[in-house]
Amino acid sequence: MTNPLTLSIDDEIQLIASGVHAPGAVASSGETCAPELADGPWSIDVLPLPTYGPGASMADPIPAETPRQGVLPEEYRLASKAELDQRILAAKDTLGERVVVLGHFYQRDEVVKYADFVGDSFQLANAAKTRPDAEAIVFCGVHFMAETADILAQPEQRVILPNLAAGCSMADMADIDSVEEAWEQLMELYADETADDGRAPIIPVTYMNSSAALKGFCGRHGGIVCTSSNAATVLQWAFERGRRVLFFPDQHLGRNTAKAMGVPLERMPMWNPRKPLGGNTDDELLDAQVILWHGFCSVHKRFSVAQIERARAEHPDVRVIVHPECPMPVVDAADEYGSTDYIVKAIGAAPAGSTFAIGTEINLVQRLANQYPQHRIFCLDDVICPCSTMYRIHPGYLAWVLEELVAGRVVNEITVGDDVAVPARVALERMLAARP
Ligand code: SF4
Repeated sequence: MTNPLTLSIDDEIQLIASGVHAPGAVASSGETCAPELADGPWSIDVLPLPTYGPGASMADPIPAETPRQGVLPEEYRLASKAELDQRILAAKDTLGERVVVLGHFYQRDEVVKYADFVGDSFQLANAAKTRPDAEAIVFCGVHFMAETADILAQPEQRVILPNLAAGCSMADMADIDSVEEAWEQLMELYADETADDGRAPIIPVTYMNSSAALKGFCGRHGGIVCTSSNAATVLQWAFERGRRVLFFPDQHLGRNTAKAMGVPLERMPMWNPRKPLGGNTDDELLDAQVILWHGFCSVHKRFSVAQIERARAEHPDVRVIVHPECPMPVVDAADEYGSTDYIVKAIGAAPAGSTFAIGTEINLVQRLANQYPQHRIFCLDDVICPCSTMYRIHPGYLAWVLEELVAGRVVNEITVGDDVAVPARVALERMLAARP
C-alpha cells in the first residue's frame, strides 16, 4: 500500500494553475481554494498591508517606523528553483554555525528542505536554544513564532522572519486592545464576587498562536501560555488558581480541551469583542467556567464531519486523526485528535499498511504521505488549502535573508521589547513548570 505521489503542495498548485490535474495527488479533487498562491507571494508585497509591528498583531496600531516587507529584489523573484537552491546552499555553507534555519511543520517543502530543525512552534523555539552560538535564527514560520523565538533566544541572537507578511490569521483575531477591554469589563463584573477558596475570579490563558503582547498580558495578570499538546495540563493549572478562564484566541482548542475535561458546553460562553460583555449576559459570565474568544484557524475550520464520513465510506479501515483547532463536531467524530507532534508520532508508530485520514494543514500531511510510503495517508479535505500566510515564505525570501547575512546585513529582524518580552517569558515559564 503506497502513496502514489511525490509532488509537493507547491508543485500541485502550479499544476492546477496550468489546468493540469495530477493523478493520485493528496488533494484528490485537483482543486485549490487559493489559486492566487500560484502567482508567488511577491504579488502582495506591493500592497500597503499586511505588515506587523514589534510585539503586536495586525489589528494593533503599527508604529510608523516599523519596517514593511517591501518588494523582494527582482534577482530573487526571477531566479529559477535550481538557482535559488544553489544560492541558499552556498549562503548556508558560508554562514556555517553562525546561522540556524528553523522550519515549521506547515511550511512548504521547498523551504523545509533547508531547515536545520523541523517541528511545531514551541519545539522550534526550544531547538534554537540548542544553538546558543548561532548569531542568527532564521524562522521559516509565521510572525508569532519568530516573536516567541526572540523571547526565548539569547539576548545577542538576531531572529529573522524571511517574509514580514507571514502572519497568522488566528493570532490576528485577538489584539491587545480588545483583550484589555474585555478584561476590564470582566474585572468590573467580578469585582463584587466573594469567594473563600483563595482563587482569583479569572485567569487569562493564551494559545501559543498569539502575539507577544498577549503572552505579556498573561504574564502580567497571573496567566499562562498553552500549546495544543499541553492545553489540558495548562487549563488544570489555571482552574487551581482561578474560578474561570479567559481563553484566547482559538475557541476550538479551548472548547475541545475543556469539554474533554468535563466542562459543560453551557458554561463556555463565547466572547465577541465587538459586543458589550462579549455578547453575553451578566449571569452567563458569572456562571462561566471557560470564556472562549471568538477566534479560529481558517485552515482547520475547513474540516467537516461529512469529510470524515466520506473517508470512512471509502476506506473502512481508516484511522481519522484531527487537530484540536478543528471545530468540536469534527473532533468528536474523529477516532483521535492531537497536536501536530501527536499526529507525527501516531503515524510513525503505526504498523505498515495503515490508512490515515488527517485533519491538519496539507503541507504536513503531504510530507508524511511521502515519508511513510508503507501507509496510505491522505488529507480529509480533498481541496488544497494550505496556510496561505505561512506560504508567503518562498525560497526566494530565504535566499535573500541568507545572502544579506553573508553580506553582514540583518534584514527582517523580529524584536520584542523588554516591556513585552519580560512578562511574556513569565507566562511561558509558567507553562514549562506546569508540564507535562
Ligand atoms: S495554520 Fe492556522 S493557526 Fe497555524 S499559522 Fe496558519 S492560520 Fe495560524
